[in-house]
Amino acid sequence: MNLPAENFYATWRQSCRALTLRDENSAPPEKLLQAVWQHQRLRRGELKTTDGQSIRVLHPGFASAEGGPDFRGAVLQFENEKPVAGDVEIDVQTSGWHAHGHDVNPHFKTVILHVIWDGTPNFRSTRTTLPLKHFLDAPLAELALALENESGLPENLRGKCSAPLRELSETQLTELLDAAAKVRFQNKAATILARAKNCGWEQALWENLFRALGYKHNVWPMQNLAETKSRWALQTTGKDEPQIFEIQSRLLGISGLLPGELTRSQKSSDTFLRRAWDGWWRDRDEFADCTLPRAVWRFHGLRPANHPQRRLALAAHWLAGGNLVSKIEGWCAADRQFRPTTLAESLHEIFQVERDDFWSWHWTFNSARMKKPQPLLGAARVTDLAVNVVLPWLWIRAKEGGNEKILREVESRFFAWPAAADNSILKLARQRLLGTASRRPAHILNGAAQQQGLIQIVRDFCEHSNAVCVDCRFPDLVQAWKTPLEAAGK
Ligand code: SF4
Repeated sequence: MNLPAENFYATWRQSCRALTLRDENSAPPEKLLQAVWQHQRLRRGELKTTDGQSIRVLHPGFASAEGGPDFRGAVLQFENEKPVAGDVEIDVQTSGWHAHGHDVNPHFKTVILHVIWDGTPNFRSTRTTLPLKHFLDAPLAELALALENESGLPENLRGKCSAPLRELSETQLTELLDAAAKVRFQNKAATILARAKNCGWEQALWENLFRALGYKHNVWPMQNLAETKSRWALQTTGKDEPQIFEIQSRLLGISGLLPGELTRSQKSSDTFLRRAWDGWWRDRDEFADCTLPRAVWRFHGLRPANHPQRRLALAAHWLAGGNLVSKIEGWCAADRQFRPTTLAESLHEIFQVERDDFWSWHWTFNSARMKKPQPLLGAARVTDLAVNVVLPWLWIRAKEGGNEKILREVESRFFAWPAAADNSILKLARQRLLGTASRRPAHILNGAAQQQGLIQIVRDFCEHSNAVCVDCRFPDLVQAWKTPLEAAGK
């Protein structure tokens, strides 16, 4: 039933939406179908797939922000069978499965249900299909009005821990997140120590810096490159630009990322490529054993600023400088009082490099020259380098060396570090665990450490359970931890 408009604003809103959904029989936009699925605005007890199976949605899954199927980790029960977990893809029409290439995309192998608006699966479809048209719990126009601004996770789909977490005071929640953050920090440090025992502190630092430059897409090729650094590293002179270029060409060659063809459209790129190939022709036989195939790199969904060619150009500057490690050591030893903002700035200064004749002006080889030069390292990335590499490396070195003063200094910098850029894990965790879509709920999550703590909880508990929190002990643990604190008046 369409509710009557209560006031003039409601009338404006309804008339605007009516323009886009005038025909109740036409198919709705895919975005609306996704919202209907996420909020389960369906007659849930009546759902039937096109092959006649009844289906119970125990959890609709979590909207994916990173490509692949629309909803990850749904839990469904077909007929009276055991519930199954998997992904859900939503398309307006059944033909979308082939038209959008899902049938040949390996990321869609985990799909257990294809949700469509209406129709029957075509003869090529092998997926279980659920048409929504006849199961809506309200007319489409009403659903459009109700759901258009509902981007968050519905209240009833929050994690079981969100209730006990909500009862914690701000101080208790911060204490809990800080404790989880410390575990995460020490795990990173232990991993660095294990590697340093095999290859030395400096090499372990370089490997982790390269990994961080790979972001989530290209961690392993970057790690491989760093592991062979002693083979391809050039003697550095500390300042002259040809040295930087020489390292860039060699890194591009060894990584398999030096394009084999000129762009024919970007003159400055082609000049760079010709010069780079001049050097790589001479080198490539010598480094054939450690040259990576281009196929190990992933480019899908990568922003141009994160392209590995550009990241290697940055690494070449660090290597050419010849003193990055000592600068990092000096940064930690510096007896200065930092505020959170100046803390990040001070490390940024160490990692920032001089303007690069080519890479400061081009995102990639194929992109046109930019009007304004862009830094090779954005300020936001410095936080990733700090919490994942620099601080754990300094901390574990100090711990192994018994240097209590540095140990305490590194810990205080870690807990004072400002929050990192948001990401899809944090977004989902805030909604599931803390019941809020806000980036900075109250005064929680103001720092990188609390964000790390939240991620650690996801890794330790959510990833060992499922969307309906089966067998997750975290809510009980929180409850049991909170009770004596309250008794003690904390
Ligand atoms: S799986 Fe556990 S930690 Fe994750 S949301 Fe559910 S109850 Fe919370």
